[in-house]
Amino acid sequence: MTAADHDRRARAFADALARASTRDDVPTALDKPLSNLFRDRNIKQQGLPAAELVNVLEVDGDAGWVDVEGMIPYDALLDATLPHGVAPRVVPQLKSITVGGAVAGIGIEATSFRHGLVHETVLEMDVALPDGRIVACTPDNEHADLFTGMPNSYGTLGYATRLRIETMPVKDFVAVHHRRFSDPGEFFAALDAAFDDDIDFLDGVAFAADDLVLTTARFVDQARETSDYTFEEIYYRSLRERETDHLTTRDYLWRWDTDWFWCSRNLGAQHKLVRRLLGRERLGSRFYQGIMRWNSRWRLLETVERLGGYRRESVIQDVDVPLATAPDFLAVFLREIGILPVWICPVRDRSAFSSPLFPAPADRYVNFGFWDTLRFCIGYPTGHFNRIVERAVTELGGIKSLYSSSFYEEDEFERIYGGEAYRALKDRYDPTGALGELYAKCVRER
Ligand SMILES: Cc1cc2nc3c(=O)[nH]c(=O)nc-3n(C[C@H](O)[C@H](O)[C@H](O)COP(=O)(O)OP(=O)(O)OC[C@H]3O[C@@H](n4cnc5c(N)ncnc54)[C@H](O)[C@@H]3O)c2cc1C
Repeated sequence: MTAADHDRRARAFADALARASTRDDVPTALDKPLSNLFRDRNIKQQGLPAAELVNVLEVDGDAGWVDVEGMIPYDALLDATLPHGVAPRVVPQLKSITVGGAVAGIGIEATSFRHGLVHETVLEMDVALPDGRIVACTPDNEHADLFTGMPNSYGTLGYATRLRIETMPVKDFVAVHHRRFSDPGEFFAALDAAFDDDIDFLDGVAFAADDLVLTTARFVDQARETSDYTFEEIYYRSLRERETDHLTTRDYLWRWDTDWFWCSRNLGAQHKLVRRLLGRERLGSRFYQGIMRWNSRWRLLETVERLGGYRRESVIQDVDVPLATAPDFLAVFLREIGILPVWICPVRDRSAFSSPLFPAPADRYVNFGFWDTLRFCIGYPTGHFNRIVERAVTELGGIKSLYSSSFYEEDEFERIYGGEAYRALKDRYDPTGALGELYAKCVRER
């Protein structure tokens, strides 16, 4: 892939964006086979051709960066970088997440305690604007405002066609160490201390209020034996069964993909027989996404349950709270919502790259991920449980990702997600409002 090839493709994308932006009857969106957004959309959209911008342009492992096109999924990116002995510094856990999606929709992994969120590993990006221009943005050029404004903008400012992201050197294997805790206070104290340890990865899982596992991991050159969690064995179960483990680096980076963390259980895919029937190739987030989309299109489960007098509320969220208030959040969450397990991932704020649309809650903070539905038979208002989560996050000084359903009032949303800075960005880069509004996209159109 030459630079000229890329320029041609990016130009074609920007031209399509400019054409779509002149129509105000239907909103614009990427035409992609998959999305890791978890919002049901009923509106018709004009699809922008994303399928072309999925290539790696250059890997410079010595300089520590890789140039990619905006819609490349992370599995293709990792396949291209591993032969050079490097990987992106933050590789979100689901293979089909794209680099542009992780920047515009916030991305995280167990390396975030050191490298921050995905957008904090971006060195420069080219952004296609609704008027058809492609502008080069860096942290200190004339488009620095757009560079820092893109994270959490969900395609409402422009689309990144090329990004240069930081890489890190990797080794062939990862040595994993799991520590179990029965007291959340001790767990979070150990997590805090681990920020300064000589490790490469740090995350945890709460299986219950008195059953938490903190996992630290390091790259190593050799391993006598490696575990395989891509078929019959299930990674999250190993956390409570083993103290130490070894995985190949590729398997470690995709350890959460095979069973969509643990959410594959809702599709019966953790049953031995079902796993064998599905086969290794199908086990993974892409396959489960397809089933979920199909179910949400036809609303099969919902219809059956309504007939039985039940309702469900989907509580599929990632929230970030300061490390200092993380134990309080976990306590409120377990008392009011009670979804288990909960993924716990620490993050360091690399403030040089902070975004006004997703301000870091603290120097050290913690991401909680919980993805399930709650079933009930009494008349709660729409979004009742999600509202409890949103209020708790705000009260404890945190911030919520917007990839799923949100229920904020508009003024509350503006206060949390950098409303004033967003207005200035819209005025400069999308003055006709062709790409829609963040609030409308993430809250009103849920
Ligand atoms: C169950 C679940 C678990 C998750 N777990 C994790 C996790 O562990 N780690 C993690 O990092 N994330 C996680 N996510 C969140 C995920 O990273 C975000 O939803 C991300 O935005 C998805 O990217 P995508 O490429 O699939 O999305 P897409 O649907 O393609 O895009 C998401 C948004 O970004 C915009 N966008 C896409 N590409 C570009 C571009 N090139 N330029 C500008 N805007 C663009 C789109 O318009 C859209 O609004 C999880 C999500 C779910 C549902």
